[in-house]
Amino acid sequence: MIPLAVPNLSGNERKYLDDCIDTTFVSTVGEYVNRFEGMIAQNTGSAEAVATSAGTTGLHAALTAAGVKHGDLVILPSFTFIASANAIRHCGADPWLMDVSRTDWCLDPSAVLKRIQAECVRKYGNLIHEPSGKKVAALMPVYTLGNIPDMEAFRSISLEYQLPLIVDAACAIGAKYHDKDFGQLADLSVLSFNGNKTVTCGGGGAVVGASDKLLELVRHLTTTARVWPDYDFDMVGFNYRMTNVQAAIGCAQMERVESFVERKRYVRRVYEEALSDISDFTTFPTTAGASCWFSGIVTPEGYSFDKTKEIASRIREKGIDAKTFWKPIHHQKPYADVPMETLQVTDEIWERIITLPCSTGITDDELTQVIAAVRKICK
Ligand SMILES: *Cc1c(COP(=O)(O)O)cnc(C)c1O
Repeated sequence: MIPLAVPNLSGNERKYLDDCIDTTFVSTVGEYVNRFEGMIAQNTGSAEAVATSAGTTGLHAALTAAGVKHGDLVILPSFTFIASANAIRHCGADPWLMDVSRTDWCLDPSAVLKRIQAECVRKYGNLIHEPSGKKVAALMPVYTLGNIPDMEAFRSISLEYQLPLIVDAACAIGAKYHDKDFGQLADLSVLSFNGNKTVTCGGGGAVVGASDKLLELVRHLTTTARVWPDYDFDMVGFNYRMTNVQAAIGCAQMERVESFVERKRYVRRVYEEALSDISDFTTFPTTAGASCWFSGIVTPEGYSFDKTKEIASRIREKGIDAKTFWKPIHHQKPYADVPMETLQVTDEIWERIITLPCSTGITDDELTQVIAAVRKICK
């Protein structure tokens, strides 16, 4: 089976792991954690990076630092991985679900602006969502597949309505925005280094951003809010720090990040060129500078989830791993009752997405096999 997305561990990973064991630095203190944070800060154009145990925990800490509290709402696209919504719930808040745009599958800023104007009022300095009476506490776009949406529009909404701008950048390592790194585009942006991401630590995450003050707070919160040198704690913190073992793998991965992202973009281009003429099938939208985390095909308009799943399983029968993708948050049991707007684009696209093999280690020969099989099944 040609796998969907597997880690590429052929660099210094083993050497650095041996070093962790030889030096006994396997926990949250160690040279690799600091080095990894430096590499992520530099790669994303952030003053610093705070390494976390996972993307989800990074998101939870970022939202907490931004002031998201029990009973609040956070604006979120419904088309995202469940972790984005879970991090909001971990704060005791609810997502306010909005639609994505067809061109990049990311939260649509014009929809956000319209819904705020239609449903919110300012009361005692807070933005209140009138239908629920809840405070809107943050704006949280997602860099879907490593596409970066119109962040100037989100920045201006964030300024106008005084909403912290927190981005789920879990799959965005390597993405550019107008040729610039994305670390300064939002108050905080959260990356994931889970096993299927372009760069992996086995598991892990990092928080970067334009707000040095919030980053300091995230660092404090993720390290149990300890005030050294004694056992003093000034907040209810989290045990969310990345370990040296995770960071050792991450450092070895980051040494090759440019070639990884280059390969991801190459795979996207190859699929676009080879599969775009199959009638009524399309490929994934790609913004300029996208990191192209996953690639694949979109089945024709009107195809049901079952029909798409059937095509994916026929591709798998040919020895090629192909899977459906994120089922939106409003279709998930824990989020059926949260505030939501029309989710027309979300409901048009999610049922039709098939991800195809796109590991950074995929060979040209494997790509040729994938293309031949997909063309045969989808013709
Ligand atoms: C992978 C991913 C996450 C979760 O990150 P973990 O490191 O697995 O906790 C969150 N959001 C999105 C969009 C992701 O793709």
